[in-house]
Amino acid sequence: MARVALVTGGTRGIGEAICVALSDAGYRVAANYGGNDEAARAFTDRTGISAFRFDVSDYAAVVAGIAEVEQALGPVEVLVNNAGITRDGTMHKMSPEQWQAVIDTNLGSCFNCSRAVIEGMRDRGFGRIVNIGSINGQAGQYGQVNYAAAKSGIHGFTKALAQEGAAKGITVNAVAPGYVDTDMVRAVPPQVLEKIIGRIPVGRLGKPEDIARTVLFLVDDAADFITGATVSVNGGQHMY
Ligand code: NDP
Repeated sequence: MARVALVTGGTRGIGEAICVALSDAGYRVAANYGGNDEAARAFTDRTGISAFRFDVSDYAAVVAGIAEVEQALGPVEVLVNNAGITRDGTMHKMSPEQWQAVIDTNLGSCFNCSRAVIEGMRDRGFGRIVNIGSINGQAGQYGQVNYAAAKSGIHGFTKALAQEGAAKGITVNAVAPGYVDTDMVRAVPPQVLEKIIGRIPVGRLGKPEDIARTVLFLVDDAADFITGATVSVNGGQHMY
């Protein structure tokens, strides 16, 4: 029976590419999203993949949402914690709300979603969790203390949970994308983006498919000796 995969923030950008790659590889895929119903409908029309709306930063909503996914598709065996937001601003101008929203959505979500599936994975003796970090969690980024802290936290979270899951057939890895051409990066002012591309040795932004291919590799049944790793996919921009 094909394995069931849940991708948070799966209806746009990198998440969509991950959903499509998993679906093409034969997984039964559920995409989660936060509130953009129009984008979610267009995603399902394009891909035929079901979308489930729940806020990954809210534990009770996650528990209810994942129960709905499992009701529709069966137990989640592959979890990709991909949903994320930015609320940029330099520290001296950042509000507590900007800080908290980014911590809760990017890092709290990894706890919420992993907690909701981990007992089932342990009971079944199999699980694959991939957390989407960021080059900015590895290197830091001006104007992003919230985002860099959350993404850096993801890398520690990954290593700790990998240790807990190892004896139970559960691998936990992270992917740290560089700058990838999605709505999130299109929000960066063009002159800033030009400078960023100038610092990427490969000479281009990443494509969502570059990240999806890495996730597909990590969740494979045969990838059971790879755990606690962070794979950088950044065109050589930061060698960690
Ligand atoms: P997008 O902004 O294109 O898409 C974000 C997705 O996350 C959407 O599906 C959105 O749903 C969902 N989402 C946001 N908030 C919530 C929430 N509270 N609950 C559930 N879903 C939510 O992002 P990207 O594809 O660019 O980024 C995907 C991941 O990759 C993020 O974790 C990001 O930090 C990371 N990343 C991205 C990089 C890039 O260059 N693009 C670089 C490094 C890391 P909705 O449509 O409903 O808003």
